[in-house]
Amino acid sequence: MTALPKAYEPGKIEQKWYDFWLKRGYFTPEIEPDKRPFVIIMPPPNVTGELHLGHALTATLEDIMVRWHRMRGDPTLWLPGIDHAGIATQVVVERQLAKQGQTREQIGREEFTRLTWAWAEKSIAEIRHQHQLLGASCDWSREKFTLDEGPSKAVRTAFVRLYEKGLIYRGERMINWCPRCQTALSDLEVEHKDIAGHLYYIRYPSTRGDGFVTVATTRPETFLGDTAVAVHPEDARYKNRIGSTVTLPVIDRDIPVIADEAVDASFGTGALKITPAHDPTDAEIAQRHDLPLIHIMNPDATMNEHAGPYQGLDRIACRDRVLADLKERGLLEKIEPYSHSVGHCDRCQTMVEPRVSLQWFVQTGPLAKPAIEAVRDGRITIIPERFVKTYYHWMENIRDWCISRQLWWGHRIPVWYCQGCAGVIVLVDEPTACAQCGSSQLVQDPDVLDTWFSSALWTHSTLGWPDETDDLRYFYPGSVMETAYDIIFFWVAKMIMMGLEDMGEIPFRTVYLHGLIRDASGEKMSRTKLRGKPMNPSEPISRYGVDAVRFALTAGTTPGNDMNVGTAKFESGRNFVNKLWNASRFILKSLDEAGFAAPVTPALSQKPPTLEDRWISSQLNRLIVNVTELMEGFQFGEAEQQIYDFVWSKFCDWYIEIAKTRLRSQSDPSPVPYLVDTLEKSLRLLHPFMPFVTEELWQSLKQHLPPESRIPASIMIAPYPLADDRAFAPEAERVLEAVIEIVRSIRNVRAQHKVEPGKWIEARVYADELLTDLKAQASIIEAAAKARPLSILDRRERDPARDGALVLVLKEAEVVLPLAGMVDRLAEEQRLGKESEEIRGRISQLEARLRDESFLSKAPSQAVEREREKLALLEDKLQRLQRELSQLRSTSPDS
Ligand SMILES: [Zn+2]
Ligand SMILES: [Zn+2]
Repeated sequence: MTALPKAYEPGKIEQKWYDFWLKRGYFTPEIEPDKRPFVIIMPPPNVTGELHLGHALTATLEDIMVRWHRMRGDPTLWLPGIDHAGIATQVVVERQLAKQGQTREQIGREEFTRLTWAWAEKSIAEIRHQHQLLGASCDWSREKFTLDEGPSKAVRTAFVRLYEKGLIYRGERMINWCPRCQTALSDLEVEHKDIAGHLYYIRYPSTRGDGFVTVATTRPETFLGDTAVAVHPEDARYKNRIGSTVTLPVIDRDIPVIADEAVDASFGTGALKITPAHDPTDAEIAQRHDLPLIHIMNPDATMNEHAGPYQGLDRIACRDRVLADLKERGLLEKIEPYSHSVGHCDRCQTMVEPRVSLQWFVQTGPLAKPAIEAVRDGRITIIPERFVKTYYHWMENIRDWCISRQLWWGHRIPVWYCQGCAGVIVLVDEPTACAQCGSSQLVQDPDVLDTWFSSALWTHSTLGWPDETDDLRYFYPGSVMETAYDIIFFWVAKMIMMGLEDMGEIPFRTVYLHGLIRDASGEKMSRTKLRGKPMNPSEPISRYGVDAVRFALTAGTTPGNDMNVGTAKFESGRNFVNKLWNASRFILKSLDEAGFAAPVTPALSQKPPTLEDRWISSQLNRLIVNVTELMEGFQFGEAEQQIYDFVWSKFCDWYIEIAKTRLRSQSDPSPVPYLVDTLEKSLRLLHPFMPFVTEELWQSLKQHLPPESRIPASIMIAPYPLADDRAFAPEAERVLEAVIEIVRSIRNVRAQHKVEPGKWIEARVYADELLTDLKAQASIIEAAAKARPLSILDRRERDPARDGALVLVLKEAEVVLPLAGMVDRLAEEQRLGKESEEIRGRISQLEARLRDESFLSKAPSQAVEREREKLALLEDKLQRLQRELSQLRSTSPDS
């Protein structure tokens, strides 16, 4: 039997246990038809690079759920996958090419796709490695990439079905265009930034020669594409202009002045220039008035042939020239500073150009309806609940989804154009000839689909859809979709729409949205690595170990709320791992010394347990009940916190310390069975949170147990602890909590008065209801507080006038310490006064907290209950402190 090494070295054991789990196939579930499986389809991280701490949080929370369900005996599938991230990946590879002085056009579509695949494969391996480093217990045998054959067939099938139902159409619509990426973007791929710009007032001379109409615009260069000036029909300033024309300067084109209710007469001059090809609002007005569209820009945002003398200029350079020319003609009335919101490409940060363009769209209205219903009727639960409103709002106002992208990396649109009869062929598999005219001259649409089109199918395409597979039958619908709340519309909403559309059934029962991780400065970890450098989890992992990092990520996490993660949290995780390690070493040593002959579980013990045995056992069972309830309510941060508090304080600081005294005096019964039992169950409770150190310690513990015990081969397949109702011992808890409070208060005084650690001090404890019980625990109090002589007396025997000493007011008792020469009345009065003030402060804080609506609605009910109990205790304590204080004052020699 090998003893545990003195210090925990995570690097040495993490790889060992991960390989062990993997080799034994624990991550791969069995299909057990009469059991309902627990399923998480991992929202696929982008292939664009290494994981950051945000991904690590996602993986940790999913792994906690998955390991917990596996230990509960559910057939558990966590299916990992990667997203090809169309535009983001293409930008990365293009940048690499640019470093070698090349463009994708130079090397061609085929070579570019080959290069991108090679890059993606390396990246997929790296992301898999990082997930494994984190301890993620995914079923790697089912790993999927969005561009794999299966998911690709699903994409083509879904496209064809929607097209045949009339829910996919091709049309000329206003879209967001990135001039650098040269592709359409969806509304969600546009990042709006506030820009300090200008409002330019430009005069358009009246064609009939009676003055000007002045328009205000942030983009003067677009006047080249104007097809009207619009005013409000009731605007008295312009009434006589309606129906007349003005002449655009420089290019001398006449455009009408029209009236439209949509014009805001209070903005600028009240006259609005209409550029329908380059502005979404203008496009709508133009449609109502049947105005022509004039494109003035090429796809790369240089000016085209409609820009007259400005043709060939970039849109930025064009603005300067336009302004100079207008000024020269006296047509630039004034310039005002003006800040406004401008859309930028989420992937490359180039200013987006609104543009009317021929694209493919999904008609989302009919898909959104059943998706709204599924949440409304409770088939899908969204946690936290406040995001339900956001979901409805977005879904009820959803716009048609532009799904075509002018990219090379992605799923090619399954549409072919016949050169013979100009027919459009939409098929899952590539056709060889046109069904209409027989021509084999078919040209496939050059565009690819929006990446989110394939992620929308992810919940079923990963399980084999459109084929009827065993996996699809058994594992669909999934249990939980776990992701950050900023992804709700990218993923969650689309998955619900497409899951319902393709499968006729919801894709998952619960949507759990976690908060965003922000760094110490509060900055959000970006979804892309192109901007800034988000923290790679392997840095803290190499310094603190995986378990400490997972602990830190989970600590304080509540559904939907952001949190900061920094060094202090990692250190606290590492300290906890070390505490657990040292406690285990002590217990294993005690177990060795007791020998196999000693009963190692409380059930086998013949002797009646002591008070502290019953206390720790009761506390442990209470913990099991709480943790189970918290896990079921997705309160993982609070569950971890409660296990931490139990292990650190109750088990290590109190039970083990008391057990040491008992072991030294070879008391009977031995605490060893309770030491072993509490440790073993704590390890299982902690396993989903900290898988590696718990496996290592559990395996060592297993070696020490009698060989006949029927114990599983790994903690990860051992059952999650269940509470034993018989273990609850409220009276033992009450007594031991009182003992702990007495010891703590004496220790505090010793520290305050700098009493040497080895020195014994006299103490008198006055109790009421607990008198007999406390008397029975005198030896524990004596040893732990270094209090001798210690007398435990009836509260009624106390004569405060004669105390002449330090009085500590506790929950169940008063402690009197006649520290000779140490106590002066004035100082004591001050201390009691200060303590009362402090308690008053805490009371008003708690009262404020319990009045705070946002706390009451966000915190778990247990936490609220705890705060209420705290308040009651503090109020009682304050009363007794006040009594002591008035006693002290009334007996004071000066009074
Ligand atoms: Zn871009
Ligand atoms: Zn044809």
